[in-house]
This record gives sequence, C-alpha cells and structure tokens, in this order.
Amino acid sequence: MTNAQTPTVTLIRGDGIGPEIADATLRALEAAGATLRWDEQIAGMEAVSRIRDPLPAETIASIEKTRVALKGPLATPKGEGFRSVNVALRQHFDLFANVRPVATWQGVPCRYKDVDIILVRENTEDIYAGIEHYVGPGRSAAESIAIITKYGSERIVRHAFELARREGRKTVTLVHKANILKYSNGLFLDVGKHVAAEYPDIAFNDMIVDATAMKLVLAPEKFDVIVTMNLFGDILSDLCAGLIGGLGLAPGANLGANAALFEAVHGTAPDIAGQGIANPSALMLAAAMMLDHLRMGESAKRLRGAIARAVADDRTRTRDLGGKADTKGFTDAVCEYAKG
Ligand code: ATP
Repeated sequence: MTNAQTPTVTLIRGDGIGPEIADATLRALEAAGATLRWDEQIAGMEAVSRIRDPLPAETIASIEKTRVALKGPLATPKGEGFRSVNVALRQHFDLFANVRPVATWQGVPCRYKDVDIILVRENTEDIYAGIEHYVGPGRSAAESIAIITKYGSERIVRHAFELARREGRKTVTLVHKANILKYSNGLFLDVGKHVAAEYPDIAFNDMIVDATAMKLVLAPEKFDVIVTMNLFGDILSDLCAGLIGGLGLAPGANLGANAALFEAVHGTAPDIAGQGIANPSALMLAAAMMLDHLRMGESAKRLRGAIARAVADDRTRTRDLGGKADTKGFTDAVCEYAKG
C-alpha cells in the first residue's frame, strides 16, 4: 500500500535484457517489502523507435522531479551524432560519483576469497568530457582531451572519504598515472592528498594505475575503497567485477547533489536478450543501493540477504554464474527468501 510518504522513483526498463531484469527486480523489491511508486519512462533504443529521441525530455523531467531513478541497461544508437545515453544522463544531472561495490559471494565460483572493494569513479570529467576531434587533413589524426579540475577532484575524493567513514571502511587508495600525466593526474593526486589530511581516521595511500591492476589480480583482499578518475575507474571496475565472478553481480550508483541513478554495471547483453536466462542480480543489488539511499535500509537488507541465499545454491543461481536457473527460477527463489 502506498501513502504520502511513499517515495516515487523513475523507472527506465532499458534495452536488450533490460525489461526482463527490470521485471525481476520489481518483483524482488515488492517481496522485500519496499513500497515505492514508479514513474515509468523510456530512453535508449526503445525511445528512438517510439519517438526518435534516445533521451526524451519527459524522461529528464521525471528524474528532475523524483530525483531517484532505477535504470536498466541502455543501448546507444549506432552511427555518428549519437552520444551515449548513459554518459548524457550522468552529465545532465551532474552525477559526479559512480560507486561500484564488489564483494565475493558464497557459492559463486571465482578465483578469490574475501574481496570487498568499493570503487568510487569520477563520472563527469577526464577523457569523457567529450572534447574530441580530428586534426590535420583528411582525418589523418585525432585528439581527445582529458579535463581534470580541482573542483571535480576534490568532490570525488571527499565523497570517497565520507563513504569510507559511513561504511566503517579503513583505507582509501587513490589511483592515478601522475608519473606520466604530471599536470592532469598530478592535480588529482595533489588535491586528493589535501582532502585525505582532513580524514585522519581513514588511512590513505596512492597507487599508479598499472601497478593497481597487477595488485588487484594478485591480492584483491588488500584493497578497501578505491577512488579514481573516469577512464581508469571504467576499466578497473570491470576488473573488480571479474574478481568476484563477472558482471552478473556488479551494481552501480551514480550520485549527484540533485539526483541519484541506480543501474547494473553490465550492458544490454543483446546475445541473450529475450531468452529468459539473464541474471537480474546486478540490477537487484543496484535496487538495494537505491533503498539505502531512500533510507529503506530494512528492505535493502532483506533483498541482499535473499540474493545471497539464491546465488549460494547452484539450483537457483543463474547460468552465467555456473548455476542451473533461468531468470524466473532465480527470481522466484529471491522472492521466497525475501518474504520469509
Ligand atoms: P552493450 O553493447 O550494451 O555494452 P555487450 O554485450 O557489449 O552489450 P554486456 O551487455 O556487458 O556487453 O555483456 C557482456 C557479456 O556478458 C555478454 O556475453 C552478455 O551475454 C553477458 N552478460 C551481461 N550481463 C549479463 C546478465 N545480467 N546475465 C547474464 N549474462 C550477462
């Protein structure tokens, strides 16, 4: 039952496997006792085919109003002139912090034990600022410009420290390539060191990105909270997802001062769309992060606990994680555990 206190959330089911995993997630949320109002909107290819616009004004207006969105994966139309809808949404709402937690799950086959990392990626600057063009005659060369600002660096590093404090984490590792990119990455590192000094209760270190990649593979359990710039964050977050068995269990939150958007880290998985075999866990876990954001922590806990039980058993775990279940079988199990 809804009442005046019930939060309204913009729902974008998305493309490819999006509608299947969104349906599964709505069922799981209901079973976990999360009462929400949904304002359903479209984006991506569905919006292109319906109204020839991958990011309709109505969708933007809905998020401006609700300030919270749950989003399935979106495909970017192919060809020149189309920007990634995901990037456009992040930039429009200035969702500067991309928070991607990864942790080992009991029963899920993977190479490591005890991984528990929160990766905090700056989401609006760096090479993703969209400053790219051809130079020289006949498209013989091209350049992409990475923008790093003091303002952007400060707010993302502060976000990482605040999160570390809130979550009872011990260490923040700032990842960069300041030995080569002395200006842009040097600025990020300098600002990071200043911010770190304000948090004496949290240990701080910095690490070059290539060394980080190696250490993450050798000893991922040594990492706690990682904060980094946009491109390194993009790459390292997929690496981190690989540490725990793949993209199937990797949720992401995109947070700004005025809006928050929760999504799975994986894409639209067109190779398995419509087959009823997609793993909805990542979107369900993103929904749990959303419940925490909405101060519905009790339902978030129930939902996470139910997912943990369903992925621990290979009869109810989906096939991408070495199990035997399809989307419905897994979701049925999550709902049963969440209700119980
Ligand atoms: P996009 O172009 O949207 O990024 P993609 O196929 O290039 O799509 P992903 O969607 O991330 O990238 O998929 C990578 C691989 O992981 C694919 O083989 C896909 O089937 C698989 N995959 C991704 N998400 C899931 C999921 N939720 N359940 C099962 N398999 C998945």
